[in-house]
Amino acid sequence: MLRQIEGIVIKSRDYGETHKIITIFTKDAGKITAIARGANKTKSKLSAVSQVFIEGDFLIYLSKGLSTVQQGQTISSYRHIREDIIKTAYAAYLVELTDKLMEERQPDPFIYKQLTLTLNWMNEEEEFMIPLLMYELKLFAKGGFAPVVDQCVNCGRNESLKSFSIQEGGVLCEQCFTRDERAVLLHPKIMKLFQVFLHVGLERIGSISVKKENQQLLRTLFNEYYDVYGGFHLKSRRFLEQIDLL
Ligand SMILES: [Zn+2]
Repeated sequence: MLRQIEGIVIKSRDYGETHKIITIFTKDAGKITAIARGANKTKSKLSAVSQVFIEGDFLIYLSKGLSTVQQGQTISSYRHIREDIIKTAYAAYLVELTDKLMEERQPDPFIYKQLTLTLNWMNEEEEFMIPLLMYELKLFAKGGFAPVVDQCVNCGRNESLKSFSIQEGGVLCEQCFTRDERAVLLHPKIMKLFQVFLHVGLERIGSISVKKENQQLLRTLFNEYYDVYGGFHLKSRRFLEQIDLL
């Protein structure tokens, strides 16, 4: 069946000397893996559109096994992300995480929209950590391992929330926070942000200003949380960790 589908390339690997196998997260058909014949040749029309985090309009022959990309046109190459090594590293992380957590052929228009909004944001703005974290938390929820952030993970109380516990898998209230001595105390504003991240789409966010040190704290918490509950090894994380060392 031949279909025209919009999507974002979330994985691309060489296949033989001249072909590529690409995984496209599409708006209407979910995640699709397809061969792009000849895409490894520089003159190929499919070469540009087969790179990771390209947003494109694809003509794909869908089959039960490996599908085939017939044509592809770039909608956005997210040029400003590509020109910036740090943004490129984070975008690579974002699409790798998406690839790991989305199932084949299961459309999710909400997640798709959030991914395009996040990439657009990264492309246009200098500060992008908050949109990135927002997207990650929604993906964690999709993967079934989001932390409990609306109420105390231990007693269910939804007030006086005090700390975030990786061990307990969510936030703890002031009565329960001693359950995990390594839980990180969070300012009520940051606590509130967790709830916003999980429930609010990026389209509803004009801007959120969060201090750099708090962004860094959340970044570290998310990484540690993912390492405990996420399960899948992420190649792109290594590179990010190396950049952070600079
Ligand atoms: Zn409690």
